[in-house]
Amino acid sequence: MNQKKTRCPLKTVDRTQFRDMCARFAAAEIGPRWRAADRDKIFPRDFYAACARAGLIGITAPEDIGGSDLGAYEEAIAMEEMSKVNPNLAVSVLVQNVAGSILYDYGSPEQRDIARDVIAGNCLVAITVTEPEAGNDVQNVKTRARRDGDDWIVDGLKSFITLGGDSDVLVTLAQTDTSRGRHGMQFFAIDRRSPGVTCSQIETYVNRPAPTYRVQFDNVRVPERRRLDAGFKEIMTGFNRERIMVAARWLGHMQAALNWARDYATKRQQFGRLIGANQSIAFSLAQAHVDVEATRHLTYHAAERYDSDIPVKDVILDVSTAKLLATQAVVRVTQTALHIGGGWGLTEELPAMRLALDAMVAPVTVGSWEIQLRAIAREMGLPCN
Ligand SMILES: Cc1cc2nc3c(=O)[nH]c(=O)nc-3n(C[C@H](O)[C@H](O)[C@H](O)COP(=O)(O)OP(=O)(O)OC[C@H]3O[C@@H](n4cnc5c(N)ncnc54)[C@H](O)[C@@H]3O)c2cc1C
Repeated sequence: MNQKKTRCPLKTVDRTQFRDMCARFAAAEIGPRWRAADRDKIFPRDFYAACARAGLIGITAPEDIGGSDLGAYEEAIAMEEMSKVNPNLAVSVLVQNVAGSILYDYGSPEQRDIARDVIAGNCLVAITVTEPEAGNDVQNVKTRARRDGDDWIVDGLKSFITLGGDSDVLVTLAQTDTSRGRHGMQFFAIDRRSPGVTCSQIETYVNRPAPTYRVQFDNVRVPERRRLDAGFKEIMTGFNRERIMVAARWLGHMQAALNWARDYATKRQQFGRLIGANQSIAFSLAQAHVDVEATRHLTYHAAERYDSDIPVKDVILDVSTAKLLATQAVVRVTQTALHIGGGWGLTEELPAMRLALDAMVAPVTVGSWEIQLRAIAREMGLPCN
C-alpha cells in the first residue's frame, strides 16, 4: 500500500461558519430535490451545479484547479450536514470528490483539466471499480486494457457504479498486465459516450436519487493520454479518506433519524401519555444518542489525524474504527426510529421507513463490516487474512 498521502490541507476556515453554510445549502438545495429524485430514481443534475457554485466539490482539492485546499475535516462537515437532509444526494458529491482526487493527484495536465471541470460543475465523474466477481475483493478486477498503438482497448463489465449512466467520465480500474496481478492495474479516464460503452441502471432499494449502473466496455478505444498514473494501491490509499466521508455520511443520517424519533416520541400519545414517557422508549433514544455521539467523536478524530502529517498507514486503525462504528450505529439508530414510528412508521406518511431503508447500504459499501473488522484486527497485530 502507498504509505503517503498525496497532500495535507493548506488552508483553514471557521468551522462553525462553514458548518452553518453547509446546513443552509443542504436545506435550500437538497430539501426541495431529493423526494422526486428518490421516487423517479433520476439524479437531479442541477443539484450538482448548485454544489459547484457553493464550493462543495473539491473541498480538499488544490486551489490552482478551483478547489478549496481544505482538509478531510471540512469535507466531513459538508458530508454530515448534507446527509442530515439526504444521504444519497450527499454521496453523489462524495463520488465527485473521490474520482476527482484520483484525477488531480495522479493525473497529467490534461487529466487535471478534467478535475478542474469536475470542480466547476461542468463534468460529472463516476468511480468505476466494482465488478460482478470483484466486490470487496478489488484485486480480482478482470476488466482488461490492452495496448493498441497509441491507444488502449478496454473490455469488461463493471457493476454498482453510482451515477455511471449519468456521468461524463468513468474513472475506471482495469488490468493492464495480468502477470503482475494487483500491481498490473491502472485507472483510465474514459469518456462515457465512447463507442462500446453501455450503461444500464440496476434497480436498488437504496441510493435511488444517485442511481447505480452496470457499465459494459466492449472494445472501447481509449487514448494513452487518458491513462492515469494510479492503480490498486492508490485506490486503497484513497479508501481511507473515502471511509471517513462515509462515516460522516452515516453520522448525518443517524442524527436525522434520532431527531425525528425524539420529536415523534414527545408528540405521540398512547395510554393517555406520551410514548417517550415510557422508559423503554426513552432509553432506546438515549442509547441512540450514545451511538451518534460516539460516531461523531471517532469520525472527526479520524479526520483530524488524516489531515495531520501522520503517514496514512498510521491512521488506518482510526479510519476503520470510525467507519465500522458509523455503519453499525446507523442501522441501530434507524431501526430504533422505525420501531418508535409503530404502524405509521411503515407508511409513506412518515420518514421512518425511508431512513431505515437508506441505512441498509451502510454495512456493504467501501469495505463491508467484515472488511473493516479485518483491517482493525490486522492493525491490532493479529495474523488475520
Ligand atoms: C448502492 C451502491 C452503490 C455503489 N457504488 C459504487 C461505485 O460508485 N463504484 C464502485 O466501484 N462500486 C460501487 N459499489 C460497489 C460496492 O462497493 C460493492 O457492493 C461492495 O464492494 C460489495 O461487493 P459485493 O456486493 O460483490 O459483495 P461481496 O464482496 O461478494 O461480499 C458479500 C458478503 O461477503 C462478505 N465478505 C467478502 N469477503 C470477505 C472476507 N474476506 N471476510 C469476511 N467476509 C467477507 C462481505 O462482507 C459481504 O457480507 C456500490 C454498491 C452499492 C450497493
